Amino acid sequence: MTPGRALAGDWTRAAAEATRRGAPAGGSVIGAETRPASVMCGGGEPAGVYRTGHLGVSLLAFAPVGYWLVSAGFVALAFVTAATMCYLAMLPDVDHRLPGIPHRGPTHSLAFAALVGGAFALVAGGLSRVLSVATPAGLSMAAFGFLVGFGSVFAHLLGDVVTPMGVRFLWPSSRSWSLRLTTADSRVWNGGLFALGVFAVAASTYLAL
Ligand SMILES: [Zn+2]
Repeated sequence: MTPGRALAGDWTRAAAEATRRGAPAGGSVIGAETRPASVMCGGGEPAGVYRTGHLGVSLLAFAPVGYWLVSAGFVALAFVTAATMCYLAMLPDVDHRLPGIPHRGPTHSLAFAALVGGAFALVAGGLSRVLSVATPAGLSMAAFGFLVGFGSVFAHLLGDVVTPMGVRFLWPSSRSWSLRLTTADSRVWNGGLFALGVFAVAASTYLAL
């Protein structure tokens, strides 16, 4: 067993014990700073709970885009966009696994969103030379790819900004923004955001068809 797994296991057991005692299993995000990184913001147990909230925010962000695409007749593109945004919902939290990269540092910034958008633009632009995919509003495939990549990361940042730990949108600037609405492990918020996201996508699809 690796040290990281041992720590995660310890935290899982501690959380179970706290739950048995009736205490909140996760505590605050600020308090979580001293815990293994995997418990914050989505990685591993029990903060896998927060993955649900991020998925919800991604679905909420996708809903208006989905409405726009479906109502314009780009149903397949809407499906691919939704799948991509959900798949990338936790991408910024890759910093948990990158040695030397602080959590909610460079991967939680507008610069990283632009970097991912740029990578998507490159891939989509390359694909457009061999594959003809219709895109809405006269956007090139590269431009559409940029928006999907940027938007996927930005949705994650919006999910994190509600927690006390905040987000450094303008990294490397140390200025941090936080709405302080909830801690990352709130089951009510995670479940609520997910339900809201599913509802928003269902409603926008219904209205667009
Ligand atoms: Zn995050």
